[in-house]
Amino acid sequence: MRRLETVAALHEWRRDLGGSLGLVPTMGFLHEGHLSLVRRARGENDMLAVTVFVNPTQFGPREDFARYPRDLPRDLGLLEREAVDLVFVPDPQEIYPEGFQTYVTVPELSERWEGASRPGHFRGVATVVAKLFVLFRPERAYFGQKDYQQLQVIRRLARDLGFPLTVVPCPIVREPDGLALSSRNSYLSPAERQAATVLFRALQAGEAAYRAGERSGHRLQAVVKEVLAQEPLAKPDYVAVADPETLEELDEVGARGAVFCLAVWIGATRLIDNCLLARP
Ligand code: AMP
Repeated sequence: MRRLETVAALHEWRRDLGGSLGLVPTMGFLHEGHLSLVRRARGENDMLAVTVFVNPTQFGPREDFARYPRDLPRDLGLLEREAVDLVFVPDPQEIYPEGFQTYVTVPELSERWEGASRPGHFRGVATVVAKLFVLFRPERAYFGQKDYQQLQVIRRLARDLGFPLTVVPCPIVREPDGLALSSRNSYLSPAERQAATVLFRALQAGEAAYRAGERSGHRLQAVVKEVLAQEPLAKPDYVAVADPETLEELDEVGARGAVFCLAVWIGATRLIDNCLLARP
């Protein structure tokens, strides 16, 4: 496994590369969710690159960039075991050189939900992902459905800018009790960790109501909120019943189905989760 830290070294590596390249961008502190993307990518490509980069531009000034969990030695060990060919671990100056001012924005998809709560977040995500697409020129790039709105933003930018690659969505990996794996779960105290199971239970209740025939966006949202309200440590940020592609809020779930997206504060930790509903 090669480990590269500079854009110059990466260009050289890419120039001589034959066969198809798969790319898995991450912020590190890897867990089974990340590794599910890596394994999928390993099986579908000749060469496999993973990036470990805590991207400063996608964090707001009052967010957790400085304390975001990091453990590079552990990450490298895990990736070595997955037969990754290249790990790219750039410093922020490599990605954002002195005087950097060019950003990629996907305004409509970014304006609501996660984007409304985290101004500038998707601009940071779209910019770094576009840069990685330019640097790596992968055939396929792998993203988790855990970050559902992010996935839609990236699909849109790949289409709009005409990147010749396939964005491969990968299913959410969960703990046995339903909590979606996330590097931020490491912030939770034992009591908070227990409380955090409410996200999945709330989504399940919403899904059950949908399966039982409920189609009103407002009433489906109320079902999800009711479950969240039963957990004293949980403070919902948003609960969305939205179109799966545009993420516009739905009055009525129609033939395109819906996605439930939620963001919930558990103490000082903000967690997100979602559930995609298609017609049975
Ligand atoms: P992150 O390091 O949080 O930026 O995540 C890197 C990639 O892993 C993103 O495409 C995430 O959507 C994906 N990912 C994170 N957690 C999970 C999970 N529990 N299941 C599936 N994919 C995930």
